[in-house]
Amino acid sequence: MQCPHCQSQQVVKNGKHHHQDGSVIQNYLCRGCRKRFSERTGTPMCRLRTPSSMVSLAMKMRTEGMGIRASGRVLEKSHVSIMRWEQRLADQEKQWSPPVPEGRVITVEGDEVYTRVGENLPPQ
Ligand SMILES: [Zn+2]
Repeated sequence: MQCPHCQSQQVVKNGKHHHQDGSVIQNYLCRGCRKRFSERTGTPMCRLRTPSSMVSLAMKMRTEGMGIRASGRVLEKSHVSIMRWEQRLADQEKQWSPPVPEGRVITVEGDEVYTRVGENLPPQ
């Protein structure tokens, strides 16, 4: 098994996800980049992800006063995608208030939010 994010082989099993259709997806944690992924990550079954660079570029255009449709045309994305990114980022900002508890780091990548929990924290 190889990490789809950093191609590291240092991956460990990280629980299983049971789908309603009865299939079981093995989840993994990468020791290299500390991201979580599943067997389906990187396959067509995996949800399509947008590079964070593109999302931030879109948001930059929007803050510079470009319209949603114009931004979409430049990035060759539909204006619906741009609106969705904006909505997601707005939602995430709401989640960041109150502040993130100590020991946790939230990173945004593309349209995903990961919560990382410090390894040395006592169990809650
Ligand atoms: Zn990795």
